[in-house]
Amino acid sequence: MTSKELELQKRKTYLQISGTACSNCRKTSRDVGVESLFRCSRCRMSAYCSKSCQKEDFSNHKHFCAAVEELHNFEEAWYSCNEESEWNKRQIYHMQLLSAPLDRELSSYERNAWLYQPKCHVCFRTSKDLQNYQPLIPCSQCLIIFCCSQEHWTQHREKHQTLCKTYQLMINCERIRYQDTSETLWAPEEWDESAIYPPLPKDWNGYFKWRKNSQFIQLDTLCRVITNSLSLPLTILSALERFYTRHNLRSLEEMVIHIIGASQYEILALMTFEEIMHVLPNIKILRIILIGLEMPQQNSGIPLSCCSRCTEANRKRICAFYPMSYHEYGHSSNYTTPHITVGFNIELEENTELWEPTIEFLLEKEVPCILTSYSKEEAIQDVKILKSWGTKILVGAKENKWGSTMPLLEPQKVDKFYHNNFFKTLFQGRS
Ligand SMILES: [Zn+2]
Ligand SMILES: [Zn+2]
Ligand SMILES: [Zn+2]
Ligand SMILES: [Zn+2]
Ligand SMILES: [Zn+2]
Repeated sequence: MTSKELELQKRKTYLQISGTACSNCRKTSRDVGVESLFRCSRCRMSAYCSKSCQKEDFSNHKHFCAAVEELHNFEEAWYSCNEESEWNKRQIYHMQLLSAPLDRELSSYERNAWLYQPKCHVCFRTSKDLQNYQPLIPCSQCLIIFCCSQEHWTQHREKHQTLCKTYQLMINCERIRYQDTSETLWAPEEWDESAIYPPLPKDWNGYFKWRKNSQFIQLDTLCRVITNSLSLPLTILSALERFYTRHNLRSLEEMVIHIIGASQYEILALMTFEEIMHVLPNIKILRIILIGLEMPQQNSGIPLSCCSRCTEANRKRICAFYPMSYHEYGHSSNYTTPHITVGFNIELEENTELWEPTIEFLLEKEVPCILTSYSKEEAIQDVKILKSWGTKILVGAKENKWGSTMPLLEPQKVDKFYHNNFFKTLFQGRS
């Protein structure tokens, strides 16, 4: 298996977390033609289609499984909570209890499995809260939303009816994302050469039209999945338009981009950064530097392959990884001044202290910067924090038209969806 496949294997889909799909092979009971999947008898969380799948998943699963079993046996932890805020509190408490026997923080996959676990959408009880682990009843259409009884479904049905379509869209997007193990979902090598950018087209539809890909003109499921990764280079391009003149952008031969707080999201979408060279074909060398604690081993420059048109035109794409904080990188000998620094969904408002030295550094260097966030509320918070540090804001908490159109589910809210890079804030230096 390639490292990307291994990474995808560790990640669990919404269907897997809800127990509707096998925790190992991702097939549903319908896919394998069995009545229903069976649950791991210890943790009662992971579901499997067969004994062999359970066996294959065991090494991934065993430590978390044992921790969950221990938590199930700790009856006091299962006090009843029948409203959203209490449920959230209990979830956080449970995650603390789970990390004790593991002797480490939960991985992001384990956190997700816990936070998205099935619960009744009316009374917030899990199967463990019911007698004898009585199974919850799934919505027959999306299969990932549950109620504990028909009575609670009667109460919840109407509210769910309006959201069920979005849940289904989310699951369908996920299916495409997890099936695709090829390098990227986006590589059509055609575009309308009579149109010169910047400026960028006015929206995603215009963009897909420029790229001559008629199949993407409607915002269908596949298209939404693609916008989730294309959102990264397009958001950068739109920010560059704000910081540099068109003439300037069209004449650049080398471009350096720093991505701060980089995570799996950027790594999985890495191939799509080539799009910057398609929009600005004068660029001969594109350097993408990913800096963040989640980055793999330090590497100061790996050449990535390009599409045939870029290869012919002798364009090169180089990528580097620095597993450290940005200010640490900034003070190292590897630092080179970027044309732009980007932080995708870095949640400044949640980790303010952690980010302060990084932002200080960026303000000092007067680097053009863009931060994106999942929601307007977060973006407004970001602007407030940045202003308190004396930042000169150029665009504050504005909706990003190059945000992802793929819905994702908020882990600690009920029925709330979010999109990557939905809002943006641009700044440079101090005011
Ligand atoms: Zn299976
Ligand atoms: Zn288990
Ligand atoms: Zn209920
Ligand atoms: Zn549904
Ligand atoms: Zn190319």
